[in-house]
Amino acid sequence: MTLRFSVLASGSTGNAFYIESNKEKLLVDAGLSGKQMDKLFDEVQVSPADLSGILVTHEHSDHIKGLGIIARKYNLPIYANQKTWNAMEGSIGKLSLDQKFVFNMEEVKTFGDIDVESFGVSHDAAEPMFYVFRHGGKKVALVTDLGYVSERIKKTIEGADAYVFESNHDVGMLRMGRYPWSVKRRILGDSGHVSNEDCGLALTDVIDNNTKRIYLAHLSKDNNMKDLARMSVDNILRERGIEVELHDTDPLMPTGMYEVG
Ligand SMILES: [Zn+2]
Ligand SMILES: [Zn+2]
Repeated sequence: MTLRFSVLASGSTGNAFYIESNKEKLLVDAGLSGKQMDKLFDEVQVSPADLSGILVTHEHSDHIKGLGIIARKYNLPIYANQKTWNAMEGSIGKLSLDQKFVFNMEEVKTFGDIDVESFGVSHDAAEPMFYVFRHGGKKVALVTDLGYVSERIKKTIEGADAYVFESNHDVGMLRMGRYPWSVKRRILGDSGHVSNEDCGLALTDVIDNNTKRIYLAHLSKDNNMKDLARMSVDNILRERGIEVELHDTDPLMPTGMYEVG
């Protein structure tokens, strides 16, 4: 019973997450060009033609840029909720009817031997949602692109073996930085992105003894740095006596395939 994953790419320039069991291969989001997506698959030695499907979190271009392209190229089914379908249909190009599937918010769908549960997040898209994956008693939670981590979300994601968790910005860097105020307000607001500090605080509530690894994800390239994100989150966890491995993600380089053990 094994569950393996790689964060293929993470950040505002494009997001893609790959997870597999021995039988099943799933992709979440395809936010880079078709060419870049192919390169990422190459680097983790996965053949995209073997995917069972692509799950979509929301219609922002950093999550769907290459979606239509690779779905057509490899004839893959796409899963998204109806509002996301409506919002993205104009920008992903033509798909055949048998590639379009609805995955409702707060639904559990089973793909072979992986159970996938979706949950809604507060973010400025039509109906954004993220996913928890379960297989053989293991649990992996993918949580990015959200303004804040609600109690409801915490309940859904608590006690996972591994997290891919948004640590978007350092609040000080964002406030001091060159972004116009309207953009700063969007990022800091309830439907924007989670800061390093909020990431650390939310993790202290959801981590338990099962938790081995956390990947800090969707880092802002202007308002954050890998070291700063890791140190900020680490400090918050340490203050509360929590020791867990923190790992970086990268906008263009996949993380090594991690076997949830
Ligand atoms: Zn995003
Ligand atoms: Zn987004």
